[in-house]
Amino acid sequence: TFGRLLATKQPTIGRYTGKPNPATGRYTVSFIEGDGVGPEISKSVKEIFSAAKVPVDWEVCEVKPLLVNGVTTIPEPAVKSINKNLIALKGPLATPIGKGHRSMNLTLRKTFGLFANVRPARSVEGFKTTYSDVDLVLIRENTEGEYAGIEHVIVPGVVQSIKLITREASERVIRYAYEYCRAVGRPRLVVVHKSTIQRLADGLFVTVAKEMASEFPDIKLETELIDNTVLNVVSNPGQYTDAVSVCPNLYGDILSDLNSGLSAGSLGLTPSGNIGHKVSIFEAVHGSAPDIAGQNKANPTALLLSSVMMLNHMGLNEYADRIEKAVLSTIAAGPETRTGDLAGSASTSSFTAAVIGKL
Ligand code: NAD
Repeated sequence: TFGRLLATKQPTIGRYTGKPNPATGRYTVSFIEGDGVGPEISKSVKEIFSAAKVPVDWEVCEVKPLLVNGVTTIPEPAVKSINKNLIALKGPLATPIGKGHRSMNLTLRKTFGLFANVRPARSVEGFKTTYSDVDLVLIRENTEGEYAGIEHVIVPGVVQSIKLITREASERVIRYAYEYCRAVGRPRLVVVHKSTIQRLADGLFVTVAKEMASEFPDIKLETELIDNTVLNVVSNPGQYTDAVSVCPNLYGDILSDLNSGLSAGSLGLTPSGNIGHKVSIFEAVHGSAPDIAGQNKANPTALLLSSVMMLNHMGLNEYADRIEKAVLSTIAAGPETRTGDLAGSASTSSFTAAVIGKL
């Protein structure tokens, strides 16, 4: 048995405020299908949503690499669509190779102010990894830290890379994490840091969490050095099943992949949500998998579970539940219905058909 993938009750910050079309009762969601395996796994999501009769219409947005005055930019029609619909599902985007380009994913986070990256990682029944009781939720600051992009050469052979931590960005992600604890009923918030070394930067992040503690007397605040967290997670991940962790950007990036590896043995199953004050974008954690693109081999589970997180975020919990159960029981059913990354023999399309059969 599994816990829910995302809160049924939502944190008050970043809440979805979109409304269904009054004439049809249906919601419109922007869909960036993405590169590589993106179109294949997106097709799977669309088919499963249709079969489950989810009241969602997709507005498909092309997001191709675009440089405007030397700056990586999201094409205007996609920006308009997402700002109108306030919610998007996103397949993987390949980072363009070539001078001047930044990651499209970073650009999306910046464009829409997506300040909190929510990454649940859970053991999946039927696919054995070292632990069977992994149920971790990590919330990563998504806008600053080492990703602020402030780097320079001081003199040849000496470079400086600046980690930026602000009270404002720390406060909004930590508040979101406290509220998330409440919404999902996890009574512990663990702030992961290295303030023994990064005294000012991580020190500020920890201070902000402590200052806010009195507003959340029902949540127990703990602080933990990241080296301790890593040791604890790999030796006994089960000790965090009642907790939510929150951390600065780079720690979150690394720690969340560790969590995914422990829970699922790969990134192929891990969903995520990027939450902003107005807009939220849900996406698979994995990339465009160019090595298997176009071969009907990709596992659509990570994007499907991201769509489940999205439905819960929209308050469409019954649909979310149905799809989540169907996906997990298809994986549990055996190697015939699992894709190759999970040591199975199913194709993307036969896995999708099996999920539809279990709705
Ligand atoms: P990747 O995640 O695309 O692939 C790593 C390995 O995992 C490959 O062997 C791939 O076949 C496998 N894999 C990934 N997703 C799978 C799935 N759904 N089913 C089965 N197997 C799967 O990582 P990469 O090769 O380092 O990156 C490829 C491109 O994706 C790069 O351009 C990178 O910048 C981009 N990327 C995008 C995102 C994103 O959009 N959020 C995230 C990571 C990487």
